[in-house]
Amino acid sequence: MKLILLGAPGAGKGTQAEIICQKNHIPTISTGNILREALKSGTEMGLKAKTFMESGQLVPDEILIGIIKDRLQEDDCKNGFILDGFPRTIPQAEALDGMGIKIDAVLDIEVPDEEIVARMSGRRVCESCGASYHVLYKQPKEDGKCDSCAGALVQRKDDHPDTVKERLAVYHTQTEPLKEYYSKQGKLLVVHGQDAVEATTKLVLEALEDLT
Ligand code: AMP
Repeated sequence: MKLILLGAPGAGKGTQAEIICQKNHIPTISTGNILREALKSGTEMGLKAKTFMESGQLVPDEILIGIIKDRLQEDDCKNGFILDGFPRTIPQAEALDGMGIKIDAVLDIEVPDEEIVARMSGRRVCESCGASYHVLYKQPKEDGKCDSCAGALVQRKDDHPDTVKERLAVYHTQTEPLKEYYSKQGKLLVVHGQDAVEATTKLVLEALEDLT
């Protein structure tokens, strides 16, 4: 299965990606995680991306297109993959089409902006492996520690309220047009993601039933 997850930042794409990935044994490719990793390792790409990411802006298309082109050529993508956070602009979607990869479906997780702002203020991520938690909805077994790797849980700089508002504005202007783009290709599946995680997961798995 070759799947794109679409939705505002904080809509729960990462959590759903983890579940689909375990069920179908295909990798999740999160461009946000790749960029954060590059930033942590101090690579040239990471340094270029830093100011865009910290201010809630999108990193330039050519950087992201290069990352995805290389990543999709790796062996583990042969039987499928889940793209979480890519494409985020029309030029990125066009570049993906140009790579000759046939995407099966684009799953859009819809969550109202007010809910997103409330959720993101409670989100915590693992400093080491990037796993996502929430102070109310998805608590780790041990306070402040990642369940899978015991790394420290921190709030991302770009999860601060002002940056979240900027990221939502960017989402509405630059990423939302992708709904129409993929709807025209007959690939768009929409699920409502404002309820509990389990309820969203049920809707997501139902929507993907015909593809698996
Ligand atoms: P995420 O974790 O997916 O919310 O991504 C965090 C940040 O990384 C975004 O706010 C952007 O600055 C950058 N980023 C991730 N994916 C992309 C993309 N496809 N295009 C441009 N910037 C991206």
